[in-house]
Amino acid sequence: MPIVETGTESLVKKDRENVWHHISAYNEKNPPMVWESGEGAWITDHEGNRYLDGMSGLWAVNVGYGREELAEVAYEQLKKMPYVPMTQSHEPAILLAEKLNELLGDDYKIIYSNSGSDANEVAFKLARQYHQQNGEPSRYKFISRYRAYHGSSMGALAATGQALRKYKYEPLAPGFLHVAPPDNYRRPAGQSVEEYNIQRAEEFEQKIIWEQKETIAGIIMEPIITGGGVLVPHPIYLEKVQEICNRHGVLLIIDEVICGFGRTGKAFGHQNYKVKPDIVTMAKGLTSAYLPLSVTAVRKDIYEKFDTGEENSHLRHINTFGGNPAACALALKNIEIMERENLFDRSVELGNRLQNELAELKDHPNVGEIRGLGFLLGIEVVENKETREPASNERIAKLMGDCKENGLIVGRNGDTVAGFNNVIALSPPLSCTDEDVDFIISVVKKVFKDNK
Ligand code: PMP
Repeated sequence: MPIVETGTESLVKKDRENVWHHISAYNEKNPPMVWESGEGAWITDHEGNRYLDGMSGLWAVNVGYGREELAEVAYEQLKKMPYVPMTQSHEPAILLAEKLNELLGDDYKIIYSNSGSDANEVAFKLARQYHQQNGEPSRYKFISRYRAYHGSSMGALAATGQALRKYKYEPLAPGFLHVAPPDNYRRPAGQSVEEYNIQRAEEFEQKIIWEQKETIAGIIMEPIITGGGVLVPHPIYLEKVQEICNRHGVLLIIDEVICGFGRTGKAFGHQNYKVKPDIVTMAKGLTSAYLPLSVTAVRKDIYEKFDTGEENSHLRHINTFGGNPAACALALKNIEIMERENLFDRSVELGNRLQNELAELKDHPNVGEIRGLGFLLGIEVVENKETREPASNERIAKLMGDCKENGLIVGRNGDTVAGFNNVIALSPPLSCTDEDVDFIISVVKKVFKDNK
């Protein structure tokens, strides 16, 4: 047997030689962490250092790490039946679809895939086909927002409104348009938040009219833009968007990939607002990222235009791995844990505590705004509170580095369209204990105070 070198240094070297961490600019001085294990909200790296994962991985590990019952349910299912193509069916997929309908509070048909990007691609394909089969074949365009992220594949990336992630891969899928998002902190001086949100919602209507409504298939949006800077809209914004969709026969696709499964205090983020989406996409928190699984939930009245018995009326979308039995069984158990531990309510409780405690940072010279909903928080860091000039890369890197030094992993995002990445994001596991939240609060306060 060859000796396998597994010391951290050796792993980091092999990592550098063989693994491409394509979204991160690592180098010799700044290698990636090698994660080894996790328990609750905490991860331990290969050298034994512990960190509270304030980002739940990539906004995903909602029930926290180390849940043996999730591992067990997947193990049992893998032994019994590891794979069923979704041209057929199996018990975990059936029961999970029923459970998701209960959480959605309405009648949807559930389509399984593997990632958030997949789920959004399915939404785009079926929306176009729906309009064709509903007598409006010219509807093919989608409108989303600048700053929003919807995935990495050619359609989902086209829907994404972050130019830096896109421009080197263009041309992407055609037919994707964008409008400005509501960024309340940077609204015009003198305008009320409500007035501003109405105006921003009306940009959709303007776009629909200018583009000819007969060409518009759908609007896709997260309830709260997460990756583009944690932009929490005024409730009137989503209500208006819903009205506009209804008025113009445009489908409303809500991307719940991050906002779903308790992140904003409800099963789904859109349930904080008065909207009734036609299509809901979800991933990440669906399995708390223990296994890949995503869903495109489609309202039954949309579904009814498919499988009518007419030739080629069904959705011609095939996917080998979607709806894996172990992933579905695990997702069901994951939701059971969330319900048993009341994690949706807990998300509100912990989020409120975080916001209340961190409110004192509002006087800090570089804190422009602290905002969020549920256990999701964005700290807008600025160079100058008067001009609202976004914080420099150096300032953000220092704050993030100091958080890490103190044992807390935080995220970073913002208006990357304009080249700003000045929002520090927190999206910790919903299973955080009170002590975990105290820890987050104490580290964030300390780091900001040390960096005045
Ligand atoms: N939608 C949103 C809102 C997301 O944040 C992401 C991923 N960060 C996606 C879609 C794409 O999900 P995936 O990376 O699983 O393809």
